[in-house]
Amino acid sequence: MKSADIRARLGVRPVINVAGTMTALGASIVLPEAVETVGAILSEFVEIDDLQRKASAAIARLCQAEAGLVTASCSAGITLGVAGAMTGADLAAVERLPDTAGLKNEVAILAGHMVSYGAPVEQAIRLAGARVVPVGQATSAHAYQLAGALTERTAAVVYVISHHTVRYGMPPLAEFAQIARAKGVPVIVDAASEYDLRGPLAAGADLALYSSHKFLGGPTGGIVAGRRDLVRAAFLQNSGIGRGMKIGKEGIAGTIAALEAWERRDHAAVRARESETLRLWLDALQGRPGVTAVIVPDPTDNPLDRLQVAVEPNAAHITAWDLADRLASGSRPVIVRDHEIEHGHFFLDPCNLHPGEDTVVTARLVEELDRALASNEIIATSVSARRARRIRSRLAWPD
Ligand SMILES: *Cc1c(COP(=O)(O)O)cnc(C)c1O
Repeated sequence: MKSADIRARLGVRPVINVAGTMTALGASIVLPEAVETVGAILSEFVEIDDLQRKASAAIARLCQAEAGLVTASCSAGITLGVAGAMTGADLAAVERLPDTAGLKNEVAILAGHMVSYGAPVEQAIRLAGARVVPVGQATSAHAYQLAGALTERTAAVVYVISHHTVRYGMPPLAEFAQIARAKGVPVIVDAASEYDLRGPLAAGADLALYSSHKFLGGPTGGIVAGRRDLVRAAFLQNSGIGRGMKIGKEGIAGTIAALEAWERRDHAAVRARESETLRLWLDALQGRPGVTAVIVPDPTDNPLDRLQVAVEPNAAHITAWDLADRLASGSRPVIVRDHEIEHGHFFLDPCNLHPGEDTVVTARLVEELDRALASNEIIATSVSARRARRIRSRLAWPD
């Protein structure tokens, strides 16, 4: 930790993030190139539409798209993409939203894709004034169900690529897109956390949406890439519902910088460094009673591995969630990836670490596991109580 750490000045805890790119933790480490760009533009005036035009060219190049737009977030991109699919270039309709009278206003989405990324996907659709039409069931959906859901009122379909979604029993994107396109319905793909900037459009998406602040290491923002008319229609929402979701010059310029850095990045070197970190943690956990660690691939095939750490409470004297909570406590909190914690495991994500933090993570793991092992009783609180405590804590904000 740098002595001039901004977090000490603000009185917030210096988090070590092994959870992944989480909005609740500040998303990602913004790249030096983006930090420099953000700092340089903040005190200058620019013509925002022209800056967006430059962003469009950068996005078009990287995503092999006709055009692109920077939004406040990927979530805003869903809302504005859907809004644009409804209004097209009708400025009066843009100003009438979320009233959709006279417009196509239905948006179909697989039931297995109706997930929460911190907020419900379908709420981002409804925010535009659209009506959500779920397709299939939570764990299965068929082509005929999608075809049957598309009517003359359908404005768009939304497809989500994420570790959150159900990933069996669902039509793959290419099949999903083919069915929608055969009926002239635009396909909007939420690929917020995906490294592949070209795959979704190549598989038939009309719009592909990304977060600037996730794997790209940009400032908070969203990227809308795809068909020129649909990107333009999303842009036009800035004089309507998009106003409350506006992105500033720093977010647009910082996103351009992050995209350009992505083009130049030595991806193999990043991967090698992450693998080294995973080996370090794996070695430290090897042979510890009740602890089973394995390197697992990313569930949506991003070029990224994580360490899955399973904790057997009788042997380790602690549950996975109690260990996670202890790691997250104190003056040097280590926050693990815990969305599957009730299965008795968590993940360590190596992609958001500053140099030297990997060894702090090792030391904290060893410290808490040793302490648990030395305890005479098994540390096992209720996982339901933990969930309830988290909700209570949110409801008590700001105390
Ligand atoms: C993170 C995420 C979002 C939200 O992205 P923001 O840019 O933070 O709004 C949407 N969808 C998925 C699948 C995500 O992972």
